[in-house]
Amino acid sequence: MGFRCIRCGRCCQETEMILTPSDIARIEGLGYSLTYFAVKSPDGFYRLRNVDGHCVFYDPEERRCIIYPWRPLGCRVYPIVYDLDRRCITVDLECPMAYTVTEEDIERARSIIARILRELGFYHVVV
Ligand code: SF4
Repeated sequence: MGFRCIRCGRCCQETEMILTPSDIARIEGLGYSLTYFAVKSPDGFYRLRNVDGHCVFYDPEERRCIIYPWRPLGCRVYPIVYDLDRRCITVDLECPMAYTVTEEDIERARSIIARILRELGFYHVVV
């Protein structure tokens, strides 16, 4: 069966989603400026900007992402995430449907997570 998203939108609230260079280029290609959709965090990485407590691209009335086909790589694999401290792929239990993630979902996400890490310069991390 695999992961069942109920579109609760929780993952788009107070997002800290990291942006890779290709995410930034793809979203800028839609006509958005970097300062509109991203903030640079103290760790030096760009992350999605929040407005009124949610991602700048989240439409709370429609409860949907307005750039869904172009959304960041990290949003595509969420709630599967990479834990840099523990050096492993894990499932974010903030997602109420995290329990529906299967091993197959994790295997499918692995190549995207590897790409995110490569793009962010973590070449030595093997996922
Ligand atoms: S880009 Fe879209 S999917 Fe990602 S946090 Fe923003 S609204 Fe949610």
